[in-house]
Amino acid sequence: MVEYDVIVVGAGPAGLAAACLIAADGRRVCLVAKQSGDVSDPRTVALMMPSLGVLSRIGLWPEVLKSQTEPLRRLRLVDDTGAALVAPTITFDAAELGAEAFGWNFPLGLLVPALLARTRELGVCHVNSDAISARSGPDHVTVKTSNGMLVQASVVIAADGRGSLLREAASIRTNSWTYDQAAVVTSFAHSGPHDGMSTEYHKRAGPFTTVPMPGLRSALVWMERPARAAELMALSNRDLATEIQIGTHGSLGRIADIGPRRLFPMTGLVARSFAKNRIVLIGEAAHVVPPIGAQGLNMSFRDAADAAGLIASANDPGAASLLADYDAMRRRDVQPRQQVIDLMNRSLLSGFLPLEVGRAAGLTLLAQFGPLRRAAMRYGLAEASGYSAAYQP
Ligand SMILES: Cc1cc2nc3c(=O)[nH]c(=O)nc-3n(C[C@H](O)[C@H](O)[C@H](O)COP(=O)(O)OP(=O)(O)OC[C@H]3O[C@@H](n4cnc5c(N)ncnc54)[C@H](O)[C@@H]3O)c2cc1C
Repeated sequence: MVEYDVIVVGAGPAGLAAACLIAADGRRVCLVAKQSGDVSDPRTVALMMPSLGVLSRIGLWPEVLKSQTEPLRRLRLVDDTGAALVAPTITFDAAELGAEAFGWNFPLGLLVPALLARTRELGVCHVNSDAISARSGPDHVTVKTSNGMLVQASVVIAADGRGSLLREAASIRTNSWTYDQAAVVTSFAHSGPHDGMSTEYHKRAGPFTTVPMPGLRSALVWMERPARAAELMALSNRDLATEIQIGTHGSLGRIADIGPRRLFPMTGLVARSFAKNRIVLIGEAAHVVPPIGAQGLNMSFRDAADAAGLIASANDPGAASLLADYDAMRRRDVQPRQQVIDLMNRSLLSGFLPLEVGRAAGLTLLAQFGPLRRAAMRYGLAEASGYSAAYQP
């Protein structure tokens, strides 16, 4: 039996960030995760200022990563539903808040290996294996791995994704649901400049979002009904380029050089408790949201920062009082965001007139009233709260 202060299970971006933050505070950390070396995930993630503060604290921002990512200076929402009541186009400009950008867009294929390398530099012990069971006792948790090891710590950070085994081991139940949507994710080259602008076209089946990448290239998250998404996945690159050309209304010029693509079925999930029995949930083990407004990993980095902050000053990092504080802190942040994202998504899918009218009226108010627009921008950016407030990008 090997003993640590903290065990982190799962080497996605949330788990790796948590392992780095906790190790940087001088705790003995064990990371239990099979490292596939797979960097083929075509997703990019838009990380806002508090998340950049987390990366800065870890030592990856701006030095290591900034030159390989692209700033998001403007965010544009376009009503492309063809509804009877069309909402005006709204452009949010970071300059309106006196900021250089809302955030930067990171390929996961860049971010995850950089975080993994940093865990090694910070002395995190790696067990290259899956967790297969976990048992919580009065003052520690014991995790068994698929290569037969037993590791023990006062607290376990469960970062093992939406199907979390650790969440189950903690006896934490979830509310989960599915949307009649799937997201096609890819990237593409374009002949016109993106000018640092991300555009969310709100279409009948969900948002179609382009996000700037370095040079004349953008990432695409295209939410569609599952049957149509499957059709898009089966198209040749040339035909998909034509579809993207139509989807962007030519605003980025000629579309070419389609990157690897992947399909993500759309689901939602929220854990009924974010921490219990010495097990703390972070990232998609705690919450899953559709990719609207770039909130998912930004919330997960704040989970990691709050968990690390509470653990840093604790005598017993798995104490019930600490877990209760974490639960309250994260619930305040996650639940209202999840509800706003869900409402925005369902207002597109429903075709229900009062919802359409409400959406159009809300967007009109945002377009016309500067103070309201700036308040919405600050909310979307999730100004640093909790422990992430201590980190400066
Ligand atoms: C299309 C799309 C676009 C998105 N865009 C954005 C965006 O712009 N901005 C943003 O903030 N968020 C975005 N998100 C959300 C973001 O990608 C996710 O929140 C994030 O990737 C989840 O990270 P995670 O570490 O929680 O989970 P995961 O990446 O799922 O990592 C979990 C890890 O745990 C491992 N694991 C599972 N079980 C075990 C076990 N028993 N033992 C050990 N390891 C285990 C898995 O192998 C995996 O490596 C997007 C999501 C989608 C689908």
